[in-house]
Amino acid sequence: MEKKPATAAKAASAKKPAAPKAARKSAAADTKPQKATAVAAIAEAEPVLLAHPEELVTPLKPGPGFDQLGLHPDILAALRDAKFETPSDIQRELIPHALKGQDCLGQARTGTGKTAAFAIPLLQLVKHRAGLQALVLVPTRELAVQVDQHVRMLGKQRGLSTALAYGGANAGAQIRQIADGAEIVVGTPGRVLDLHGRRALPFDGLKHVVLDEVDRMLDIGFRDDIRRILRSIKSKHQTIFVSATISDEIRKLAKTYMHEPVEINVSADELTVDKIEQGYVTVERRDKFDTLLKFMRAAKPTLAIVFCNMKVTARKVAKLLKDNRIECVEIHGDLMQRKRERAMEQFRKAHVQVLVATDLASRGLDVLEVSHIVNYDIPEDTAVYVHRIGRTARMGKSGYAVTFVQPDEGKQLTDIENLINRVLPQFEDSWAPPRVARPVAAPPPAPTPESHAEITIAGEKEHVQLPKRLLEPYQRDVVLDSYGLVPLARNLGSRFRSNRRRR
Ligand code: AMP
Repeated sequence: MEKKPATAAKAASAKKPAAPKAARKSAAADTKPQKATAVAAIAEAEPVLLAHPEELVTPLKPGPGFDQLGLHPDILAALRDAKFETPSDIQRELIPHALKGQDCLGQARTGTGKTAAFAIPLLQLVKHRAGLQALVLVPTRELAVQVDQHVRMLGKQRGLSTALAYGGANAGAQIRQIADGAEIVVGTPGRVLDLHGRRALPFDGLKHVVLDEVDRMLDIGFRDDIRRILRSIKSKHQTIFVSATISDEIRKLAKTYMHEPVEINVSADELTVDKIEQGYVTVERRDKFDTLLKFMRAAKPTLAIVFCNMKVTARKVAKLLKDNRIECVEIHGDLMQRKRERAMEQFRKAHVQVLVATDLASRGLDVLEVSHIVNYDIPEDTAVYVHRIGRTARMGKSGYAVTFVQPDEGKQLTDIENLINRVLPQFEDSWAPPRVARPVAAPPPAPTPESHAEITIAGEKEHVQLPKRLLEPYQRDVVLDSYGLVPLARNLGSRFRSNRRRR
């Protein structure tokens, strides 16, 4: 049944659908595509955000366990260590075929466990100290790092070594890693071709070739590079494609470069955003930061990502948060690769609980416990909304996403509602903050159970006007360690306290 996105129109009058030209220009620059050429520069290019609405989480379902998939005891031990108890659908389906050496065309999106689905068979099939045997191609360096981490985590007992090959980083170090005897290379197409051209990445021993997020690689202009790579691999090898969507072009590619591929689709009926509590708040541009601050103090997120459309906004928001004693890291196109990696690492390890990001960060960002997503700016491309909120509620967990909507952005909100086929609730009018430069602890209004909550910040009680249900899910302890992550001793409240002590 089709729902009419009525509240969107109600809440934010759709006077000016599009964002200002300057904003569009700047946002475009933030995710600017680069021309595909077989040089390292391609991999250094800013990745383009091309979101897929399907990229959301799927909960684990009961069924055969990892021990029934024909896996080596070393891998089973690594899975236990990683706290991977139950295989996800794509893992259950893909692993047995891949272990038989069959070519596979798997439709699965981020958040379904797709990385482990192809990494596990690789780890079982690749032989120790037998030279480079597996190549995994991914669209971005961030994803390359994550795939590499998966391979290392799950393959630690196998003694296999991996090398990374992506642009924007020292090619010399990557060449040395490969020469040192890496059995698996994970890389972006541009740098892989570059290193191959320099004879530093030989294809002759390849027995397994995986293309992860094929649709994105095609979207961002790696079409020619992919074909060149696949054409150049002359050895007899297994090919695995994993893609959120399987277009005609991908099918054609599979037909050309695969032998009777097994098609696996676990995405079909799993478009679910149920685990994400979503809503919006109408806010004037000048009040956005105060609203954010109030929200942060009230919701005390375990890990939050604040998405901004432009680099300049991300920088400003990060600075203002720090000025207001909320530690955060930022990640956007202006930062050097090294700084971005450091920021990601700090956030991934939950050393810093707030990440301010442009859409660049929403690609391949894989942190299980992102509890809150704040769309500080409503995304200009509606598909980006789904991609952003897909950073929370991963692997069946719950999450919370709020979008700040300016009164002239009703059209964008309606478009989002149409895309997700659901009406987003408006969170309390009272959320609009008082127009002061910096929110101060206002004299507490008489609380009513439904619309007010009392929270403690820096040892002081404060009343906030937020729906209570909004605060409830995150007042509980989040079980980080169930996924082997470092349990977080502090939350934002305690961070405020520790900051205050330092001052
Ligand atoms: P992916 O779809 O590969 O991006 O995986 C999403 C997240 O789920 C990653 O953090 C994985 O480490 C995690 N994951 C993958 N498979 C499992 C599993 N079987 N059990 C628990 N977590 C998993």
